[in-house]
Amino acid sequence: MTVKVVLATHNAHKVAEFQQIVARTRPDLEVVGYDGPEPVEDGVTFAENALIKARAAAAHTGLAALADDSGICVDVLGGSPGVFSAYWAGQKKDAAANLALLLDQLRDVADPHRTAHFTSTIALVTPDGHESVVSGEWPGRLAHSASGAGGFGYDPIFIPAGQPAGQERTVGELTADEKQAQSHRARAFAALVPLLAGL
Ligand code: IMP
Repeated sequence: MTVKVVLATHNAHKVAEFQQIVARTRPDLEVVGYDGPEPVEDGVTFAENALIKARAAAAHTGLAALADDSGICVDVLGGSPGVFSAYWAGQKKDAAANLALLLDQLRDVADPHRTAHFTSTIALVTPDGHESVVSGEWPGRLAHSASGAGGFGYDPIFIPAGQPAGQERTVGELTADEKQAQSHRARAFAALVPLLAGL
């Protein structure tokens, strides 16, 4: 039996990534996009924002709702952009401007100090009001310039840890399959899988 869940985002990249991740691990789950009203994301943590989005989608659709709130956290910036990742260069949510600003802020920072991680917090809200929150992190460091056209957001400047020396690629240079096998979103979803058993 197929179980339908709504993904509380208008970001087509996130919907596509979730569908690929779910197809790998929970093919019986049908993830549908959400076109209802978007709530104001005024939480100060990833968990608060994920819950705000999932509650709104569950209330609007009557379905179990998932929401991911995610971002990039740079150590030398004390964890910023963090929850402000989508708006780092202003309210326009301009991914190219966000990436350019972050590179500029790290202009004089040497490789050993360019460590960062992507983080994804997923909230699950069921129609009967049960709420769960899980998170996943993907460690790495920031490149000095953008490479690759895959993925979205900060992918062209994030180099995941654990790659062989001399063959390192940014997430923008990974295939979708490679990203979905190891990303912060995939790690958070893996933590969520046991909690989906009751759906
Ligand atoms: P949200 O939609 O409010 O969760 O904002 C997430 C923001 O974090 C996105 O707009 C991107 O800037 C960044 N981000 C989150 N996940 C990723 C990813 O997988 N790759 C690149 N950037 C990401």
